Amino acid sequence: MAHDVLISKEDIQKRIQELGEQITKEYDGEELVVVGVLNGAFMFVADLVREIKLPVHLEFMAVSSYEGTKSTGEIKVNLDLKESIAGKNVLIVEDIVDTGLTVKTLRGILQQKGPKSLRLASLLYKPSRNVHKVAIDYLAFEIEDKFVIGYGLDFDGKFRELPYIGVYSHG
Ligand code: 5GP
Repeated sequence: MAHDVLISKEDIQKRIQELGEQITKEYDGEELVVVGVLNGAFMFVADLVREIKLPVHLEFMAVSSYEGTKSTGEIKVNLDLKESIAGKNVLIVEDIVDTGLTVKTLRGILQQKGPKSLRLASLLYKPSRNVHKVAIDYLAFEIEDKFVIGYGLDFDGKFRELPYIGVYSHG
């Protein structure tokens, strides 16, 4: 199966280098807690932290959409933070902001834990689908409303290992 390459491996790496430089400058002299959102952001977070020249404490969270209607939040936390983020500079690292629901809810959950600062880095952003307005502090690429795979992103659990971002095609 061949997928059209939307963003090449080289372009991804170049952009992540730029974001890493920007983050390093903007948090100069500070420590940073990087919260990678599993599974989709695993590759992005691995590459991004290597370009951040600051002391980094790495944490992961895993979230999924809540099926029930009576839930307190709109997403379910399947893997939570191991350590307190109170008084810390926190950077959420996501794979893609689509409707914005995941990120908006996650921001709310983390904000309640009293961080010194809370920012968001996202690999991709689909503006056409954005219903929950969220500010992305560090965005790698804005894309059209197409279903993408690769570089951490899956279709039915597959294609996460691809080093590029492709447009999913059947057959
Ligand atoms: P949101 O809550 O912003 O609507 O959705 C974010 C989540 O939807 C992402 O973390 C990702 O898991 C999934 N998602 C949205 N668009 C795509 C896409 O084009 N490809 C893949 N593989 N996942 C997507």
